[in-house]
Amino acid sequence: MIELVRELAGTYGPSGREDEIRDVIRKNISGKVDELYTDTLGNLIAVKKGNGKRIMLAAHMDEIGVVATYIEENGFIRFSNIGGVSPVFSLGQRVRFANGVCGCVCYEEKLKELKDLKFPRMFIDIGTNSREETMEYVSPGDIAVFEADTIEQNGKYISKALDDRIGCAVLIDLIRQIKEVKNEVVFVFTVQEEVGLRGAGTAAYALMPDLAIAVDVTNTGDTPRCNPLSIELGKGAAVMIKDGRTISHPLVKNKLIDLAKRFDIQYQLEVIEKGGNDAGSIHTTAGGIPSGAVSIPCRYMHSPCEMVDIGDVKSAVNLLKAFILSEF
Ligand SMILES: [Zn+2]
Repeated sequence: MIELVRELAGTYGPSGREDEIRDVIRKNISGKVDELYTDTLGNLIAVKKGNGKRIMLAAHMDEIGVVATYIEENGFIRFSNIGGVSPVFSLGQRVRFANGVCGCVCYEEKLKELKDLKFPRMFIDIGTNSREETMEYVSPGDIAVFEADTIEQNGKYISKALDDRIGCAVLIDLIRQIKEVKNEVVFVFTVQEEVGLRGAGTAAYALMPDLAIAVDVTNTGDTPRCNPLSIELGKGAAVMIKDGRTISHPLVKNKLIDLAKRFDIQYQLEVIEKGGNDAGSIHTTAGGIPSGAVSIPCRYMHSPCEMVDIGDVKSAVNLLKAFILSEF
């Protein structure tokens, strides 16, 4: 699976610019589903036909990024964020624009304290000496993403953009594993999750599934002196109870927990205060759609070195497989 994860995580695809990553996912699943199409906002929709319930599984294709806002006279690029990018995690990192041009993210040295590190005091340096020279490569409005390799080490994947390319990898793995389904399973690779769960809502409105599950990453509480949180890396897939946007529907949550127990799949429960995933916009669509989430625990979310446990990824695949193959 490392090859698939590396290909997905290494592909450029910030929110609103998902063309490249959509092509890569399409290539990986074409011929393995009954229907495959892109909707108006750009969600990639893959259908395995069946006569039972229509189940929507959603994983977002987009990743966080930075957008050039202004080019200084001496060529430095001022920027803003696309999604939840932290100034601290960005500092000293490389970012890559759609055309392949890389830049170093640095800050004004007069800054006195780390708490003053905000995007307006930071800039991207692509090695040019003037505005004219920079404009040959980067213009205001161009979006860059973190540049970092994907590695497998000590049973973990470490990479940029595992949020949520690891969720995309889980859906692709399911598509490859599952031949016949009784339920109709709609795999949706969504756009613009990182800027407000935008693609998932419109996709759900068009599809009107009976049940929906978002497949995304979630923060852990297992690093030195971090905020208390009951999720740990390596303790299994997380069944979402609630986050900042959703309280999981009992139909979905209870079914997932029952299946995990019945098939001896390692799982933990996710209870978080802030943030949300695609379930947040799916469950309030139209007349309402019973929704929940299966999350993959992830350390250092929204950094260039996000870390997930390979066993947790396998648990997520097994749990979702049991869900889509079960009777309702
Ligand atoms: Zn995510």
